[in-house]
Amino acid sequence: MIDVHCHVDFKGYNKNREEVMQRAKDKLNGIINSGASLGGNRRTLKYMENYKGFMHASLGFHPVNASKADSDIIERVFDEINENIDEAVAIGESGLDFHEVTDLEGRRRQIKVFSRFINMAVEYEMPLILHVRDAENRAFEMVKKHSSIPDVVFHCYGGDLETAEKIIEEGYYLSFSTILSFSDHHKELVKDLPLSNLLTETDSPYLSPFKGKRNEPSFVEEVVKTLAEVKSIPIREVDRATEKNARKIFGI
Ligand SMILES: [Zn+2]
Repeated sequence: MIDVHCHVDFKGYNKNREEVMQRAKDKLNGIINSGASLGGNRRTLKYMENYKGFMHASLGFHPVNASKADSDIIERVFDEINENIDEAVAIGESGLDFHEVTDLEGRRRQIKVFSRFINMAVEYEMPLILHVRDAENRAFEMVKKHSSIPDVVFHCYGGDLETAEKIIEEGYYLSFSTILSFSDHHKELVKDLPLSNLLTETDSPYLSPFKGKRNEPSFVEEVVKTLAEVKSIPIREVDRATEKNARKIFGI
């Protein structure tokens, strides 16, 4: 199993990051830590050094941050990603969050930053990890124009089935988070989607599958289990297929 999207760089893990990572290592074959801010990218690169070959980096800027950040911060984010591009396995997270950001100016800023990340993925021929809420079609249309991006991953997908099918038809991937273990909408959604285009993630520390417990990468097992249950297939089959997808996309 691989957790393709988590944030173990967050300060909330400072007290017991080592234990969290040990539990992840016991159960998983890798994690991709997602840089969501200037500091997040820096911390991801720093912690990655301690878990070589297990923790991989995705470098980006969260669309909610993009909607309100100063332009000099944004420039610094792009500069530092360019400088550290060889350390990353993917670009992102980046995208559109029209759920959190409802004002036009904020959305306009998101679109601008997202376009630059799309161009970056084109330039470096690297996979792009998208954070999209209430703007799935819009984001899909924006990336679709760039056929040279090797792979596109919609992280924590929660849109509708019709868009999910369009995304898969284009050869892109949908990553399902630990939400899957407790959301009927998500369970219904994955029923008919092919394993060939699915990935698993926790989005830790968010979206814990266990009440009162902070999420962590080892809990990605719950996503694999739920996928197997919903699809009535062996856990092993889900595990093998989703890990294979992650290895292929990110070259890990
Ligand atoms: Zn995230």
